[in-house]
Amino acid sequence: MALSLRTLDDGAWVSAADERRTGASELWHVTGVCECPIAEFVVEGVTDVAVDGRTVAAETYGRCITCGRSTTTAPIPVGRVIDGRYEPIDRDAIRRPVGSSASA
Ligand SMILES: [Zn+2]
Repeated sequence: MALSLRTLDDGAWVSAADERRTGASELWHVTGVCECPIAEFVVEGVTDVAVDGRTVAAETYGRCITCGRSTTTAPIPVGRVIDGRYEPIDRDAIRRPVGSSASA
């Protein structure tokens, strides 16, 4: 099973199986990236993307529009691999960075 995952256009997009799937200028609800219980996080760029088990997660940088904090994130789930295909997670889902407590 080989789902190709990469970043495109200087980190503007996450590409899965050569389709642009998610990326810069999206608004995500994320926990643990700032002091807000749930950040309104605007993605400004994607630095890396990888699959961990079935979870596709992207390291991103961006800004919480509630408190204004700019940050680089641990990998944040953007989708799942199901039967070798990429399935995006719900756009309104509350996302929790993968392994955020161990991240530098
Ligand atoms: Zn915030």
